Amino acid sequence: MKLSPKSRHSLLLATALLAAPAALMLVALVALDQIGLLSAVLGLLAMLPLTAAILRRHLLRIDRIEAALNRALDAPGDPAEIEVQIEDDSPLSGIVIAAKALTRAHATVTRKLAERIEAGTTVIENIPDPMLLLAADATVTGANRAARELFGGNAVGRGIAITLRHPDVLKAVDAALSAGEGQATEMTLLVPVERSFAVRAEPLPEVGPDGSRALVMLHELTAMKRSEQMRADFVANASHELRTPLSTLVGFIETLRGPAKDDPEAHERFLEIMHEQSLRMARLVNDLLSLSRIELNEHTPPRQPANLTRILESVKATLDMQAGAKDMRIELALAPDLPPVLGEEDELSQVVQNLIDNAVKYGRAGTHIAVTAKRADNLPAALHRAQYGAVVISVQDQGEGIAREHIPRLTERFYRVDKARSRDLGGTGLGLAIVKHIVNRHRGVLGIDSVVGKGSIFSVYLPAARDLQQPEVTARSA
Ligand code: ADP
Repeated sequence: MKLSPKSRHSLLLATALLAAPAALMLVALVALDQIGLLSAVLGLLAMLPLTAAILRRHLLRIDRIEAALNRALDAPGDPAEIEVQIEDDSPLSGIVIAAKALTRAHATVTRKLAERIEAGTTVIENIPDPMLLLAADATVTGANRAARELFGGNAVGRGIAITLRHPDVLKAVDAALSAGEGQATEMTLLVPVERSFAVRAEPLPEVGPDGSRALVMLHELTAMKRSEQMRADFVANASHELRTPLSTLVGFIETLRGPAKDDPEAHERFLEIMHEQSLRMARLVNDLLSLSRIELNEHTPPRQPANLTRILESVKATLDMQAGAKDMRIELALAPDLPPVLGEEDELSQVVQNLIDNAVKYGRAGTHIAVTAKRADNLPAALHRAQYGAVVISVQDQGEGIAREHIPRLTERFYRVDKARSRDLGGTGLGLAIVKHIVNRHRGVLGIDSVVGKGSIFSVYLPAARDLQQPEVTARSA
């Protein structure tokens, strides 16, 4: 093996230095006539290669250790273990052992640090709120997944003003970057759909490794704002719905006391209308009360079994007359093996009543309404985990049907495809909202299928209860 140039240089110097005391001794012996000049020169010539040979061996080992250390440091990724063979009795073996321990400790610290950074990055990456890191010149230096989804992957590397053009947000960013002050504001994005966010810009306590100096955090307020809006709309709608029959009543009372005071025929007619309006108000108040009662309990699903056969037969009996008035028939088909469901009988009666009532109202005169109840074969995803499977009740009418765009909104309070028609038929616009809330409370699913001109099918899936008539083995395990 060859020495490195540095060691070769050291070899010459060290050999000369090591040989110097012996050479001086030889010169002194020659001067004192103790030995001849020739002997001294020969002695020196013999000593030099010997010293150089011993030194060379040690320098070779040092070269090997240095090369191994450099290899370990240059290895990609974690620092590698030092690989060098040194004889145990060599004075350099202690250095090798210490260097090995040092690189091992270094590797452990590096790994732990990497794990910590990785864990921190994973948390930030998966936080559902969008987050952006900014450099001193407001260039985006980093974006978590939520931010990339919101602004697109190319926000990083661009100025924040290109991604977020909202003046208040830019002011907050400026305050964080220039004045080192955290600031909060709100913003609304209009495309692709309107979304509102609370935005906070905060200076970072330390400059990040990528030069980040501030953090912009967004928190979505859309759902909260929407529910605030819905609440306000609901109160406005409810008072509006009540105000109309109330002012009709007041108007008729005034007419009866004034201009129509002595008109018995008008009395009869007006009292009839007043009666209708009072009933309408009573229905509205009842429906509103039902809704708020159900909403109050929506988080606690019923645990007791309810007998659907009894419920369906009793609702049919209640509505048979109403259907008969339109020359319609309610046809009930119940599967013989119908299991009980987990439910509140009063609430389930209301679901079936509202659906059959709508089928009578919106079905064509002279047609029939098919009401069926059976075990559900194809469970909706939300019911895949129902321990005893599910039951599906469906109410099918032959009516005008509902256009596709209205279907997702039918269960909103006061949503009506044709307001005047619903009102003429005595509807409150709350029937399907009540159905939906009851079905939600029962952890069930409401499905609506409709073909314009043909009719609609409303299907209610409910988790089945354990059927005590059947042996336990028939129970499905989740
Ligand atoms: P309403 O009191 O107006 O009937 P609902 O909440 O029960 O209120 O229904 C909301 C709207 O859904 C109705 O106004 C009607 O436009 C539509 N709808 C409900 N059921 C049917 C049906 N079986 N056929 C056609 N349209 C229906």
